[in-house]
Amino acid sequence: MTSLNRFPFASSAAELLVALRKGDITSEDLVTAALAQIQTYDRHVGAFLSIRGEKALDEAREIDRRRTQGDKLGPLAGLPVAVKDNLCTQGEPTTCASRMLANFIPPYDATVVARLKAADAIIIGKTNLDEFAMGGSTETSAFQKTRNPWDLERIPGGSSGGAAACVAARMVPLSVGSDTGGSIRQPAALCGVTGLKPTYGRVSRFGLVAFASSLDQIGPLAQTVEDCALLLEVLAGHDSRDATSINRPVPPYRELLLQQPEKVRIGYVPEMLSDGISPDVVRTMEEAIDVFRSLGAAIQEVSLPHARYAVATYYIIACSEASSNLARYDGVHYGYRTDEKAMLAELAEERRRLQQEGNLAALEDLDTALVRLYRKTRAEGFGAEVKRRIMLGTYALSAGYYDAYYLKALKVRRLIRQDYDRAFETVDMILGPVTPGPAFRIGEKINDPLAMYLFDLFTVSANLAGIPALAFPAGLSAEGLPIGLQLQGPPLSEERLLQVGHMFQRVTDWHRRRPPLIENNGPLS
Ligand code: GLN
Repeated sequence: MTSLNRFPFASSAAELLVALRKGDITSEDLVTAALAQIQTYDRHVGAFLSIRGEKALDEAREIDRRRTQGDKLGPLAGLPVAVKDNLCTQGEPTTCASRMLANFIPPYDATVVARLKAADAIIIGKTNLDEFAMGGSTETSAFQKTRNPWDLERIPGGSSGGAAACVAARMVPLSVGSDTGGSIRQPAALCGVTGLKPTYGRVSRFGLVAFASSLDQIGPLAQTVEDCALLLEVLAGHDSRDATSINRPVPPYRELLLQQPEKVRIGYVPEMLSDGISPDVVRTMEEAIDVFRSLGAAIQEVSLPHARYAVATYYIIACSEASSNLARYDGVHYGYRTDEKAMLAELAEERRRLQQEGNLAALEDLDTALVRLYRKTRAEGFGAEVKRRIMLGTYALSAGYYDAYYLKALKVRRLIRQDYDRAFETVDMILGPVTPGPAFRIGEKINDPLAMYLFDLFTVSANLAGIPALAFPAGLSAEGLPIGLQLQGPPLSEERLLQVGHMFQRVTDWHRRRPPLIENNGPLS
């Protein structure tokens, strides 16, 4: 336990579960260690929006008590887990990193949160994200920036930036994120951790605050593929409260890792390694291909001819769905409401002025109190990026533009899906980059939305096609920043992706590398 206190979570979740079962450590030790690591590093990293301190400790002691008593415990019994703050937690804040939901306390648990509790995991806190998960750097959070533990001047990726950073900084062994266009895989890649976006429908979205419902999917982040398998097993499964939930049994993902997959055929898309891609990413791909080849995989070229339309297609569909999903934040149902008194006084003042001026036309157009309430609430409650997306989406869906944008995007989405179907006739999975380069600097792209959106070019296709994708650490850039790669497979091929990712981690140690800051465990200024 002394070594654990000094350096929590050098071990993986799988290793910690063994130690817990053997009685080498207690859940109280683990939660104490997690809280200590958060205490030391989180004022620099900023991964957490809320921490459950005493409550988590109480739950840990209760698990320890039940364990000593010989009770049957759940599969994650006693392990601290972090949860992205767009997943509803009953009776506890769920902010989506937005002023709009700053004071929102959900009256129910998301299905995945209920499943974590049923598995006897201990929720240690809620992690930071881009506001409503809209972004790729966690800079659009209304509350705080999260910094990349590998370089505090750089972004951790997003939108699950807090979820990835807290695993990278070894504050928790397991973390739950959501991925609409890359939000699990991209921060996992930039922070040097492993993350999986499951098949659309594999994990229930009930209680996930909706961004783009046809793309959103919840999934695990951890140090290793094995830990992702462990966590996915708990998260996945049919749920009648999500109409898109897949009604198929959940395979024992972790146990299946022990089975060596027979000859795997891995495809890659040569065009993806061309213009604008960092040489570090290209080198990482080449080295990984060699590793897979040495493991006996057959490597072959495949083509995804419509991939170059993916970013445009994604942003039309995601913004359209967002504009509709976010209509519910009106200051009436729940969430933030503008100062009504001030709003009414302002409106009365405007009316008086227009009457004095005799401006009848403007008087007629003047907001009703209700409309003004909506307007002011939304103007004050949403940040710039969320507003941009609501406007883009509303435009794409409006009469006259619907066919040209939204409908067209749906058609291209189908072509992208067909590209994958065709590719998966000849290969079992496709290996590719997650991002065009390593983590960029804080502030570098925040005023250039297009550059920010283009950083998503490798991740959005899996969401458009609804297929699973596993991101894992595969190298370091020249300046020592993590580089991740992803394996994408046909629908419900999670077990194969995990098997092949696990194979890679058995012969490489990129997933064991830790940010220098944490590795040295040195004091911070
Ligand atoms: N970066 C993408 C976006 O900004 C993906 C976000 C996500 O997956 N939630 O939309």
